[in-house]
Amino acid sequence: MSDRKNNAIFLDNASTTAMRMETLEAMEPYFLEDYGNPSSIHSMGRTPRDACQRARKTISYIINAEPEEIFFTSGGTESDNWAITSVARKAGKEKNIVVSKIEHHAILETADALEKEGFRIRRVGVDADGLVDLEELKTLVDEDTALVSVMTANNEIGTIQPLKEISEIAHAKGALFHTDAVQAMCHIPIDVREMGIDMLSASGHKFGAPKGIGFLFVRKGVRLDPFMRGGAQEEGRRAGTTNVPGIVGMGKAAELESAGMARKMKEISEMRDHAIERIEKEIPYAKLNGHRERRLPGNVNFSFRFVEGESLLMMLNAAGICVSTGSACASGSLDPSHVLLAIGLPHEIAHGSIRMSLSERNTMEEIDKAVDVLKSSIERLRSMSPLYEDYVKKEKCQRCHTTEYTAIR
Ligand code: PLP
Repeated sequence: MSDRKNNAIFLDNASTTAMRMETLEAMEPYFLEDYGNPSSIHSMGRTPRDACQRARKTISYIINAEPEEIFFTSGGTESDNWAITSVARKAGKEKNIVVSKIEHHAILETADALEKEGFRIRRVGVDADGLVDLEELKTLVDEDTALVSVMTANNEIGTIQPLKEISEIAHAKGALFHTDAVQAMCHIPIDVREMGIDMLSASGHKFGAPKGIGFLFVRKGVRLDPFMRGGAQEEGRRAGTTNVPGIVGMGKAAELESAGMARKMKEISEMRDHAIERIEKEIPYAKLNGHRERRLPGNVNFSFRFVEGESLLMMLNAAGICVSTGSACASGSLDPSHVLLAIGLPHEIAHGSIRMSLSERNTMEEIDKAVDVLKSSIERLRSMSPLYEDYVKKEKCQRCHTTEYTAIR
């Protein structure tokens, strides 16, 4: 389905998602009629309070948690900051925290800041598909590890981590396990009990809720100090006047998106696989990034040699196709993505990468149009690249076993 405003083909659903009308309608009364503060004792507090509790219940049910284990926050960034910072401060500087090298900046920059204060941070690498190196993890986690934090699925390359194995490694040494599930919540099944998750971050706007609302799941028994102080909201663990419309919207979106998840995963991954197949068949020197099977249903990430990701993005944009050159939060910077470098891509190849992230609102026709435009844009960019011309000549020479190449050069 095309974007209503400008007919754009929106293939950037990992950066944010559209809300459904039903979600907006569910939120509306909490702006206009039932706008009371849920902390109020008088009658106007009651309806919004009940609505927030219903949303808490819905969300907890989807991840197999208890309602009291869900703490509403302003989004993924806050949840990540809270989890890491609070565990570090409680554990003290003698303990260590292990994070993966491909975490979102909300985790990595928090870890960097803690390290500057003297906390011990260890960083585990990933293989060429983006899977955490479990053997290295075992060597990094010890009796002094307070927390292991590894994301459920990567926002750039879509690789889904083996959470159960990771949590077992953490728990074997008495460490807590946190996962940033911002890209996974309502897109793939999550069971906090089965997967051994102690804390989980999620963000509403990645699954059809408004921006500025999210939650942190904290398993009962995990003592987490408040991150925001100044009020008794969320059992005194997250102060600040409750964002009732946001919470109601997130509850409604979670209900709508989790219903029929298996069907949606199938439909979206069919479009994803179609895009991958066409790109691999029709565009030379294209490399799929991320794990081929353990991959988010909507993620397509490719590096194209002899092409600049930014130029490609602008050409696609001019044709009404919205994609990303990696993490939305990293755009605006010309540094290559830390995720692509961590999976071993050289800088110049990492620079030629784009991510298309699909949703249920997309259609096969849109995917075909996007691949057609991608293909012609890459052909145009390469036709202007002396490096490409040179490389193709070299390849041809090598194929016919001549030494002509040196002469051409
Ligand atoms: N974690 C991951 C994996 C993300 O992809 C994002 C946003 O792109 C965040 C955290 C930050 O979430 P929010 O936008 O809700 O602050």
